Formats: sequence, C-alpha cells, structure tokens
Amino acid sequence: MRIYQNVNPVHVPNLDLTTLLFDSEHSLAEEDHPLHLSASNPDVHLTKKTLRALTERIAHFLHHELSIGADGPYKDVVVVCSSGQPAVPALFYGIIAAGGVFSAASPSYTPEELARQINQGKSRLLVVSADKVEVGREAARLAGLGLERLVVLASEPVWEMKCLQGGKKVDVDNGPRKTWQRVTDSEELRRSLIVLLYSSGTTGVPKGVMLSHANLVAQLYIPSVQSRAHVAAAVATGEPAPSPLRTLAHLPIAHIAGVFGYLISPMFSNGSVYWMPKFSWGPFLQYFKTLRITVFYTVPSIFLRIAKSPEVSDQFDTVEVAITGAAPMDAELQQAANLRLGKGKTRISQTWGLSETTGAVTAMPRGSSDITGSISPVLPNMEMRVVDEDFRDVKPGQPGEIIVRGPFVTNGYFDNEEATKGTFHDGWFCTGDIAVEKDGKFYIVDRKKELIKYKGLQIAPAEIENLLITHPAILEAAVVGIPIEGGSEVPRAYIVPRSMGVLTGEDVAKFVNGRLAEYKQLRGGVKFVDEIPKNAVGKMLRRELRDRAKAEDGVK
Ligand code: AMP
Repeated sequence: MRIYQNVNPVHVPNLDLTTLLFDSEHSLAEEDHPLHLSASNPDVHLTKKTLRALTERIAHFLHHELSIGADGPYKDVVVVCSSGQPAVPALFYGIIAAGGVFSAASPSYTPEELARQINQGKSRLLVVSADKVEVGREAARLAGLGLERLVVLASEPVWEMKCLQGGKKVDVDNGPRKTWQRVTDSEELRRSLIVLLYSSGTTGVPKGVMLSHANLVAQLYIPSVQSRAHVAAAVATGEPAPSPLRTLAHLPIAHIAGVFGYLISPMFSNGSVYWMPKFSWGPFLQYFKTLRITVFYTVPSIFLRIAKSPEVSDQFDTVEVAITGAAPMDAELQQAANLRLGKGKTRISQTWGLSETTGAVTAMPRGSSDITGSISPVLPNMEMRVVDEDFRDVKPGQPGEIIVRGPFVTNGYFDNEEATKGTFHDGWFCTGDIAVEKDGKFYIVDRKKELIKYKGLQIAPAEIENLLITHPAILEAAVVGIPIEGGSEVPRAYIVPRSMGVLTGEDVAKFVNGRLAEYKQLRGGVKFVDEIPKNAVGKMLRRELRDRAKAEDGVK
C-alpha cells in the first residue's frame, strides 16, 4: 500500500481550542494587541483582553439565559447567519464556552435555506447580524422558532447582542461572565462537537460536517508549528523576519476557510483581522493598500480578478503570504497572479482539502514554492493515498481518488450515519477528488462526486434538482457543472418537461431565482431533453450529461 505522508510528525498538545488560543504558551496572542478590527473603522476593535471579556459575557448569556449547553456540552447547535464583523469571533468563542456548537450559514441564504440548516442541526437558536434580521425572522417562522430565540449581533455603531423579542440582552460592559471548560482528555477532545459546517459530501444535499476540538487544534497547530520552525531558522541565517500578520476578512465564515483564516489562526500568531461586511471589489482593493495586508487566503476566482483587472497596480505590494484553495488553480493562473503580489516576489501556495478535513490536507511549507498548479505536499500527521475503484493504489501518473486518514478528518455527518458510513472505507475518508501524481507532485484533475463549485462555494446538484421537480410542469431534472474560468463551474439544468414547448428556460431560471441563494442560480443555462440518461438500476449518469454539455459548448 502506497501512503503519502510527511516524515516529520508534529506532537499536538491535548488541549481544547479555546484554552490553546487564550491560555497556553503555544499562542502568541498579546493581551492588548488589536486582534479583530472593522476594516472601515479600525477604532472599532477587540484585543485579546476585550475579546475574552466579550466571549465570557456572551457565554454566560447563552448558557444562563438561553440554555445553550445546559444539558451538557456538544449538543446545542447555534446557527449563525452574519456578514463579516469583528463581534463574530466573540460569538464563536462564546458559543463554544457556553457548551454549544457553532454552525455558520451562508449570508446569501434565503429564509428556506436557513430554516433547513436550523432544522437539520435541531437548533433552537438563531443569531443574525443586523442586516439579516428580515431573513432571520422568516427563517425562524419557517423553523418554528419564536422571536425570543432570534438574536441580533452588532459591532457598530455599538457592540450589542439581544433577543429580538422579550428584552433579553448581553450587558457587554459589565455583565456576568462564564469561562469555558478546560479539556485535556484526548478522547473527549476527539469526540467533542464544536463546529458544524455544511457540505454535500460525495452525493446528495448538504449535510452537517461535525468538527471537534481535536480536529480544529490539529489543523491550527500542525501547519503553524511547521511555519514557525522555518521562520526561526531563516531569521537565524540573517533573513528578515516576516511582517506582522494583517489579513482582510472577505470570505464568508460559513466556509472552513473563513472559520480558520479569521476566527482561529490569526490569533495564534498575534495577527490582526480587518473585517469587511462582505466581498466587494472596490473596497477590497482599497483595504489591501490602506491596511497594508500581509497575509491572505482566497479562492481562485478572486486571484483571477487580481491577475486580469486593469485596476490592480500596487494594492498587493505588501502581501508576503498568499494562499489559494477551495477550487482548482492551474499553473497559468498561478503564475499570472504571482506577478501582482508582493511586487512580483510572492508565490501563491495552493492548498487542497475539504470541510470534512477541517480545511487543508496539503499545503506548501513556508519557504518552498511551486508554480506548476500542484496542490502541495501532504501536511504532517496526515496520510494520503490515490486509489482506483477497488481501493488499490494506482500507478504514479494514473488518475485515482484521493483518500485520507488522520487527525483532521471529521467524525462524520451530523445525525446521518448512512452518509457517514458511505464516505469511509476501512478507516479512510474518501474525498471524491481525482488526482494524478507527476514527479512527486499531485494535481487535481477531476471530481468523482456530484459537487459543483462556483467561486469556491458549494452547489449541491441534488438540492437544485429536488427544487426543480416540485415545479408542476417538470417531470425530471438533472444538474451538472459547466467549467468556466478561474477554476469555477456554473450549474446547467437538464429538464424533462411534462409536455414539450410549454415551459421556457427563463421560467425555469426564474423558478430557482429567489428560492435558492444567488450563487446557486442556473448560470450554465437550461436545456430541455426527452430523458435523463440512467444506468440499469436507474442511477443518473452524470458523466454522460457532462460530456453532452461539453459537446453542446464545443469543448473537446
Ligand atoms: P469544501 O468542503 O467546500 O471546501 O469543498 C471541498 C472541495 O473543494 C474538494 O473536495 C475539492 O473538490 C475542491 N477543492 C478544494 N481545494 C481544491 C484545490 N486546490 N484544487 C481543486 N479542487 C479543490
């Protein structure tokens, strides 16, 4: 059996995430250093000291006023639908300290999508930012939550957290505080549940990916220790020390990249996170320059814009570390975008991973680089194989599915044993991604699973299909991804109508519009067909449809 792994494993401390970050010698966070700031008004900020105070006041409020964690930890899911704001980290740690489970939902969600996430997690509490109150109100109604279980969180103009009805609120300046439970038992750390994010996995609709203290601590600690060792060695040989970490929070916190990149990782290295409410190109460019951003992770579609846009000049000159992930980046884009970063000296490193692996499984070690579009070497403590349909190693140079094992891997899908069982084989997690090894490097060449990725965001074909067949004029529907620039795909629907010539493509697109988040719209178009190709047991043949789409678009 050929297992790819790093030969230098890292010893990870047995500590819960919150203790590791706030109260351990491993964390470099300083008491009075501004950790979380509003990008538009950096006077609005939290230091480690004020973050701790707000975290503990929120924890007290959630636990004592709203019963989160009252029956023990790791059970009560709190759904959070928020645009980017510096109060989010306090909410994140407050939920964990209360004994709850943080479950972020996309801020683009419609009330129906948000209600589904509430129901799937059996959640009895929804927290929204002030701009999401109306969506939250409707979602709460659909999920049967009273308005006293809908909480609004704000950082500006004042720090505030209050229930929409009933008058309960956090006294942010003087309220009682509840600290978190320090956990050192390795089995508890492994079995715990503190974060629940949604992914469609290999098939079907989005499912809750359960992440534990042990998952998050390993994902934080292992690459950080690797990178610290490199920096220390480089500085010892006379290289300049890297600039302090300053990053811009522009991706949604509903994705593992946002959770890690903004809520967790910068604190460990005493960095600063500047929060913008949501991605917007003009302010994004401006903030990079004025805030002198040094480190950023983003998706290939944004790197494409950076590479191609005539508005980009010196905005990215201060960038020392740039990381891509969540979708493929080829050599051409990697090299074109490199030219715009750190005066052409910065090399984008590519990570590959999934929500189910708490993010990155592969990452470029600091000090190394690659410009061929490879996904970088596997991180320490993780094991990776590339296998065929029968779980035999493929020969180097042959495509195969990546399967992984190790501390980053989820315990499974929330309340869905069947999906969990279906994704593991002999203790290995099956990622559904197809890779090829060439000269010791790995390249993602295809996806075995149904998932469509638009600008790094997940679109589950099954979710759109399930919606389409509720239309009275639609008999059957299939949705596949059509590749576009920058590693993105757009969904195209194949429709078998009840009778030909009645329904138009526009009708179908309109039907989806408004019922699903904007990023899930049928940007790849609508095609009417007589039948959906299926195998002998009635399983949809998506590959055939993908080939058909290629033929329609004249792609070889
Ligand atoms: P998510 O759980 O939303 O992060 O989605 C995980 C999926 O995104 C993976 O299974 C891949 O299909 C895709 N993905 C992530 N990183 C890369 C990458 N570097 N290259 C190609 N696909 C990627």
